[in-house]
Amino acid sequence: MDVRSVIRTKRDGGELSEEEIRFFITGYVKGEIADYQAAALTASIFIRGMTDRELVTWTHAMLHSGTTLSFPELPQKKADKHSTGGVGDKVSIPLAPAVAACGVAVPMISGRGLGHTGGTLDKLEAIPGFRVRLSDDEIHRALDRTGVAFGAQTKDLVPADRLLYPLRDACGLVESIPLIASSIMSKKLSEGIDALVLDIKFGSGAFLPEPERGEKLAHVMIGLAKGMNVRCSGFQTAMDRPLGRACGHTLEIEESIDCLAGEGPADLRELVLLQGGEMLRLTGNVATLAEGQAKIADAISSGRAMGVFELILREQGGDPKILKNRALLPHASHVEPWKSPADGMLAFVDTRAVGLAINALGGGRNQITDTIDPGVGLVWRKTAGESVKRGDVLCEIHHQNGRGLEACQKLLASAVRVGPPIQLRPLVLAHLAG
Ligand code: URA
Repeated sequence: MDVRSVIRTKRDGGELSEEEIRFFITGYVKGEIADYQAAALTASIFIRGMTDRELVTWTHAMLHSGTTLSFPELPQKKADKHSTGGVGDKVSIPLAPAVAACGVAVPMISGRGLGHTGGTLDKLEAIPGFRVRLSDDEIHRALDRTGVAFGAQTKDLVPADRLLYPLRDACGLVESIPLIASSIMSKKLSEGIDALVLDIKFGSGAFLPEPERGEKLAHVMIGLAKGMNVRCSGFQTAMDRPLGRACGHTLEIEESIDCLAGEGPADLRELVLLQGGEMLRLTGNVATLAEGQAKIADAISSGRAMGVFELILREQGGDPKILKNRALLPHASHVEPWKSPADGMLAFVDTRAVGLAINALGGGRNQITDTIDPGVGLVWRKTAGESVKRGDVLCEIHHQNGRGLEACQKLLASAVRVGPPIQLRPLVLAHLAG
């Protein structure tokens, strides 16, 4: 088979055969197909799209381009959740221990932050000593001992996506529903899970801002999961404003600990209960979503969820003393109030710019090789839809000796508006049941 004929078929709007797809994915992973040829094929897919049959075969070929995880030794069901990400989205951190405390194991292979969005692994690494680069054996051991493994994609898991995702990123080929769906689902389905809950963000801080495109992506991903016997459903949730009050690595760890203590912002707690409850429902641990939400709430109020989080810290090298002494986390050297320029209602007009404001302080990555300062970030003292007075503190900027402070303030000024009343969109727009 010749890769040029595969590219030509897709370029001209034809359907790729199973053989052609497997030839491409296998050849690319083996290094027999060049990056420029892979870029030509993904660009053709980006423009032409994929038929359902192509998408299933493509996802399957990616999933089996390396090893997959399975946990026959674990008696409990396994579930995970995937968020399309955004600003202040730390749901996974309190969610995983709360779900494990209810008897469902969570093998959570997460990603790092890029651009305006933060990543779960980077947030966890703000905890002194916490290790996310787990071997397969360590993932098995962590799940057995704690019910959770917070890990990074190993080199053997879905190598096709390890090559294709950065290539798509570098070539402006990310925002394609079949390419996103196959990239995310090949990784999630490699975790050996029984159920998956999707958190599809909408709004100006989301990767796909329009709810209609998000809904389409969710349905495609739910279809792929079903085809592989994994129960899957999704929620469309707001990213037209930051989630919670804390944005930035250490600050989000602190807010996650508050959530596990039954405190912290209501929106974060609502998503933890909702998505955790749905993970319990999909795995058959409870009969209804309401029952699942109540069970997660009980795991938090009884302290069991916090107990699991402490076990995870011990298992993955993190210092458990941070739970009592937050001074052990890396903090910024200075905190500067950022004040309202007017009287009116606070609205976020560009939530993406809030993420970029954190990057300006050194708290994010523009390229995957950039290093992150975990201490910097923002804590919102007012939230979207709240009435404020001129001079009220809107947020606190945690910065290192003024580094990037001016750029951060400029970006914040473009991100928010204080003015006439706004109609706030609901935190949860839809439940896309699987
Ligand atoms: N996240 C992924 O893992 N893959 C994509 O294609 C987009 C977002």
